[in-house]
Amino acid sequence: MMKYPFLDLAKVNEPYMDELVAAAGRVVRSGRYIGGEEVESLEADLSALTGATYAIGVSNGLDALRLILRAYKEMGVIKDGDEVIYPANTYIASVLAISDCGLIPVPVDIDPETMNLDTALLEGAITDRTRAIMTVHLYGRVCWDASLVDTARRHGLKIIEDCAQALGARTLADGLHASHCAGALGDAAGISFYPTKNVGALGDGGAVLTHDADLARTVRALANYGSDRRYHNIYCGFNCRLDPIQAAMLRVKLPHLADENADRFARALAYGRTIRRPDVILPMMSREVTDHVWHQYVVRVPASRRDSFMKRLAGEGVGTDIHYAVPPHLQPCYASLPHRPLPVTELLADEIVSLPIGTGTTVADAAEIGHIINRLDF
Ligand SMILES: *Cc1c(COP(=O)(O)O)cnc(C)c1O
Repeated sequence: MMKYPFLDLAKVNEPYMDELVAAAGRVVRSGRYIGGEEVESLEADLSALTGATYAIGVSNGLDALRLILRAYKEMGVIKDGDEVIYPANTYIASVLAISDCGLIPVPVDIDPETMNLDTALLEGAITDRTRAIMTVHLYGRVCWDASLVDTARRHGLKIIEDCAQALGARTLADGLHASHCAGALGDAAGISFYPTKNVGALGDGGAVLTHDADLARTVRALANYGSDRRYHNIYCGFNCRLDPIQAAMLRVKLPHLADENADRFARALAYGRTIRRPDVILPMMSREVTDHVWHQYVVRVPASRRDSFMKRLAGEGVGTDIHYAVPPHLQPCYASLPHRPLPVTELLADEIVSLPIGTGTTVADAAEIGHIINRLDF
């Protein structure tokens, strides 16, 4: 048993135990096990939290992204063989959503500072088949800038946010732009409530967010066998609904998201203030609490010494992980997919290590882990 486990899911839910059990009991007694008030209330809460006009509870984050792309196909916005740009450093689900819909995933390299999409490279990746850009707010850092928005607007592309790691994150306000919540920035967004996410269900869950009424209607129908009303199927749809029991769990936890995210920021600050060595590169700290919700705290160490770093830390009782060791374009399932060189993504994939930052890791723990790293021989 690690003294500082990477993430202990029982500990994540422990503070909410009584409320979670009560909420589960409420669903069991209700007799309503598909749809209904729990799901509708959560959807309203998600709209209120993010500012997105429509929120649709769905089965998981991958399905949220699949449903968005499928809906655009049903709406005639995108067709088979069209291209969707995505950041090469992401979880594979972003890419599976694209290929599952008969679309071509086009990876674009990342900015080494933010580890998110390098929006300066977008223009060079656009062809006459490009229809959408998927921006991924990876590790909880919002990936949104004027270059992304301008490029999309100039080429008439949809912007889809993969918001799986960034619920509650906001853009920074400046003289020109107000602050907006991730998930309400683009044309549509997918959220995941996988148990390890900043708000996790006790199983799978997800949501689609959008301001677009047509898209919302189409996603809702597709997720429910393609039916717009009972026994009337306008699309060949799926069963991708959010369970009310998960909605009930999420309604307990969602009100605490801002506090949980603030705690993550405090742990990130503690790491940033403690770790001092040239061979451990820290993630860029944000100027404010809000534009990064620290789903992961990802440092870089020399590739040749990463194994040793992780092993020695484990020896000191510190759990670590890698997000992600193999980028999607190097996975066997995408071996035949052509792509441009992606040097930054491939370099970083060999250097990155995630330190503990979730509930269960205190600020004092983060400082102690920082001190352990400072004196670590690896
Ligand atoms: C978790 C995750 C997903 C997929 O969500 P699931 O609910 O696990 O299907 C998609 N994209 C990113 C970036 C994720 O981290």
